[in-house]
Amino acid sequence: MPIDSHYYTDAKTLEPDLAAFMQAIIRIPSLSSKEGSVIERMRAEMLRVGFDEVSVDPMGNLIGRIGSGPYVIALDGHADTVDTGDLSLWDRDPHSGDIEDGVLYGRGASDQKGGIASAVYAGALLKKAGIPDNITLYVTATVQEEDCDGLCWQYIVKESGLRPDLVVITEPTSLRIYRGQRGRMEMEVHTSGVSCHGSAPERGINAVYKMAEIIADIEKLNERLVPREPLGKGTVTISEIRSTSPSLCAVADGCTIHLDRRLTVGETEESSVAEILALPSVQATNATVTVLDYAVPSHTGLTYPTRKYYPTWDIDEDDPAVLTAKTAYRAAFGDEPDTGFWTFSTNGVAIAGMHGIPSIGFGPGHERFAHAPNEQVEIEHLVRCTAFYTALVETLARQQGE
Ligand SMILES: [Zn+2]
Repeated sequence: MPIDSHYYTDAKTLEPDLAAFMQAIIRIPSLSSKEGSVIERMRAEMLRVGFDEVSVDPMGNLIGRIGSGPYVIALDGHADTVDTGDLSLWDRDPHSGDIEDGVLYGRGASDQKGGIASAVYAGALLKKAGIPDNITLYVTATVQEEDCDGLCWQYIVKESGLRPDLVVITEPTSLRIYRGQRGRMEMEVHTSGVSCHGSAPERGINAVYKMAEIIADIEKLNERLVPREPLGKGTVTISEIRSTSPSLCAVADGCTIHLDRRLTVGETEESSVAEILALPSVQATNATVTVLDYAVPSHTGLTYPTRKYYPTWDIDEDDPAVLTAKTAYRAAFGDEPDTGFWTFSTNGVAIAGMHGIPSIGFGPGHERFAHAPNEQVEIEHLVRCTAFYTALVETLARQQGE
């Protein structure tokens, strides 16, 4: 059935400009902490389509504003991408921005420059139509998300004092309304041994052998983690192992494993550390557990250290933010929306998980293309997200006016 809402038809008229802007930002590589050029290009587009105020904060996040009403909504997307990976797995240049049969290709297509492009064009539509008096709309293109999800929003809330009433996270949701995600954290477990000449290992204590028992226990721990509604099961996996020794002809005197822990409802930093410390092998070997820190300079040179703990968040199906989003979806598309959750992590860990700001997810593209070769997004998704964001702002304006 054709979609006949004015939100959709208005967004559709902007499709050529929206697609051209998307191509332009896909063609600018923007690894974490190297987003300067793409932020500059996005800033130019915001100014071109008529945002009232556009600024780059000291961390390098781009913040565009339209309107100055009391109800504040932010559409957030991260401007950084992961690297391309093995080029032989790609059918075309990862920065081509090629469009073929309505699909745009390139690193960042789904994760997640499309969300930013759609948000900027929603701003363009709202500016043209006249943004409702009771609304301030921010569109944020944030940095370092792929390296340290949410750090940008820790900075925006704590240092810039921007605390929206509602945030839409524009990461890919396949045009569904998302209600949360598992959290995550990064830990290291370390065992110590005593080195000696490798020709007589019985004189020493091998830290790698101590770790072997811990590795087996962690594999079993992952199997017994308990699923909890609505996010399912947390997970733990070993993502790296390294050891030290005075030479390759010596017994290892230290061994460290890196843990990627995904957190479901009710699992926290404290509970996850306690769970590792309680493993029989960890106790028997006196291994230590450390939650890691992140302290990498942003593209502007600002370092904003944080612990690598990214809390879980979820909101109810009948939460006001979800109900409003559903109303907007019906207004934009004349159809019932699906809801869901992300498998991966987003800036929501800080926005909703740390700061408790009401948040929903709605974005173009599909999670399965994130970090994968031949990443892609349907141009139609970009148009529909522009329509949805516009409808959401007008729905909120109407609700605030009631
Ligand atoms: Zn992402």
